[in-house]
Amino acid sequence: MKHVTYEEWQKYVGDGLAEEVRQQYEEHLYSCDDCMEIYLAAIEAGGTSFPEFSDEARFTEDIMNEVEQYKERDDSRAGKKQRFYQNAAFHYSVAAAMTIVLMYTGIFQQLIGFAEEFERSSRPSFTNELMNKTTDLINNVENQTREEGNG
Ligand SMILES: [Zn+2]
Repeated sequence: MKHVTYEEWQKYVGDGLAEEVRQQYEEHLYSCDDCMEIYLAAIEAGGTSFPEFSDEARFTEDIMNEVEQYKERDDSRAGKKQRFYQNAAFHYSVAAAMTIVLMYTGIFQQLIGFAEEFERSSRPSFTNELMNKTTDLINNVENQTREEGNG
């Protein structure tokens, strides 16, 4: 599509265009910075004749709706595979960010320290227990062997 002239943008601002033409111009506006500038100039020149400026909140809402619709159109063009990849990438970023936060706040170190502490304190007693059990077992076997030998 070729560029839209200033006069045409004035008609657009003054709502003097057919719906079909309006939509064409809007589509073009999304992808053309030059026409965006001309369009903005037309709005300024048109002043209060631009109806949606009378209600600023409503105007912002309309713009946001337009942007949302445009984004949705873009998504459907991108396809599902890419969207899944983008989602996965997003989740990875979140996980990475959380890991970094944990490391910076020292929670990671605390967890590692706790695990080491737990191992250090529990290992000797566990080893002692195991040694006691083994000694008992050896004693039992020795006793039984001795008894059997005697009997
Ligand atoms: Zn253009």
